[in-house]
Amino acid sequence: MQVVIGAQDAAQYEILAPHNDKLRQPVTGGATRQGSVMAGLEAYSACPPDRILIHDGVRPFVCADLITRVIEGLDRADAVVPTLPVTSTLKAVDASGAVTATVSRDGLHGAETPQGFRYDAILAAHAKAAADGLTFTDDAAVAEWAGMPVRSVPGEPDNIKLTTAADIAAADRRLLAEETLHLGDVRVGYGYDVHAFGPGDRIMLGGIAIPHTQALSGHSDADVALHALTDALFGALADGDIGLHFPPTDPQWKGASSDRFLADAVRRVAARGGLIAHLDLTLIAEMPKIAPHRDAIRRQIAEICGVDVGRIAVKATTNEGLGFVGRGEGIAAHATATIRLPFGEKR
Ligand code: MG
Repeated sequence: MQVVIGAQDAAQYEILAPHNDKLRQPVTGGATRQGSVMAGLEAYSACPPDRILIHDGVRPFVCADLITRVIEGLDRADAVVPTLPVTSTLKAVDASGAVTATVSRDGLHGAETPQGFRYDAILAAHAKAAADGLTFTDDAAVAEWAGMPVRSVPGEPDNIKLTTAADIAAADRRLLAEETLHLGDVRVGYGYDVHAFGPGDRIMLGGIAIPHTQALSGHSDADVALHALTDALFGALADGDIGLHFPPTDPQWKGASSDRFLADAVRRVAARGGLIAHLDLTLIAEMPKIAPHRDAIRRQIAEICGVDVGRIAVKATTNEGLGFVGRGEGIAAHATATIRLPFGEKR
């Protein structure tokens, strides 16, 4: 595939374009659509193909069926254009806004792209049009002018052309709706953990070290916050718990940094084709004060999970002096994880 771009878009293209061997290096277009098509056609002149399809980048919803119809149409004609009958009633309107006539729509079709051609014929037609200084609004019109017979195949109603800002906004809504439908299997998981205080001078909480007069004790780094979040994700996946995947009896997890556990749960969500919609953590502790560290914890969790920090909530409360937390013997954490999975799993 040969993409034609504006010279000012080269840096952006380099960032956004996929890198694979089906996509040739882009060429720079001309001042007009016709000039850009000519540049794209000439890029193939060293190894001319038998047939070529020319597509407008402003029609991003093109589908494989339509491309196939155009290619198959080239078995019967040297130029193929997908069209759909015009469905609106057509009005002739003068400069003052007055309707001067109703125009019959019988036999009128709207043209789409991709349009397909014999390569040598459309290249010659474009070269002749350029030499004659003539401008056309699509490539089939260039072919007609050059005397090539042009055949129509059925177009696709969804293959819309994005022209205005409103078109682009509508396309964004459509893509969002498709993603929402695709990832519509919403699940919420819950996790709980507690660790007791022991000797030390800092605690690991939400992936960050907080100086304190004690540490939390446990087999790993005892990060009670990340353990609760990890179990919440395993719960949303209905895929065991942290003790099953990282047994405390296994020496390899002794002193382990708990971000590895959370990252593993995040990978399991991705492996199921899902994404994390929201994580909500509540820490219960008399000491240390959590609020000064809240945003650092949120950022660290967001980093480990690869999601926006706006999808991570961290709350904290004391236990009003009641129970083991109230007596300052440890810290407890509750978490919920909301994830979105693709439909298709058994319900
Ligand atoms: Mg734990």
